[in-house]
Amino acid sequence: MMTISYEYEGALYVNLTNRCDCACVFCLRHNGHKGSIYADDLWLDHEPTVEEALDDLLARDLPSYRELVFCGFGEPIFRWDDIARIVDALKAKVPGLPPVRINTNGHGNLIHGRDITPEMAGRIDTLSISLNGSTAEEYCAVTQPRDGAAAWEAMLEFTRLAARHVPHVVMTVVDKDKTPADIAADRALAERLGATLRVRAYIPD
Ligand code: SF4
Repeated sequence: MMTISYEYEGALYVNLTNRCDCACVFCLRHNGHKGSIYADDLWLDHEPTVEEALDDLLARDLPSYRELVFCGFGEPIFRWDDIARIVDALKAKVPGLPPVRINTNGHGNLIHGRDITPEMAGRIDTLSISLNGSTAEEYCAVTQPRDGAAAWEAMLEFTRLAARHVPHVVMTVVDKDKTPADIAADRALAERLGATLRVRAYIPD
């Protein structure tokens, strides 16, 4: 069985890809897991097409969810063009569609080689971007991005540009090993880019 969407705490999560340009040290994908605390079977045997995703989503009572979230198992922004098509179709077909969020590593413009953030206007309500480190060195050590330090710069620039087009841009940090001074610095960085910081509790693997 393949899980395209699953419920968690009143929201509906959508899983469109296993692909990612990072290899985060904590990522469930390469720690031998096929699932997460959210669902058992998130490894996709093929990437669902737009039609398969829409069939799955339209079979649900979408207005009953508080949010529709494009997220892992991999990095959802690889499927940005398809996410845009899916969101457009859902907005056309489903009155009362809940707000739409993407959880991302913020490498969308790097991956696509163009600024995709204007295409998010009117489609995406919230972007949640992982700030896995307070410096380029720390970020690269944790996320091991394909493009090295360029990925850190790209993530910051993506955040800054997205804040012009997406109503809520949030940078998330995990509180593990963070001092109050680290958190304050992260918050200042996020706010400088037009985002807000959300501190998440560490969940052991
Ligand atoms: S960005 Fe997300 S999907 Fe990619 S390696 Fe890191 S935790 Fe895994």
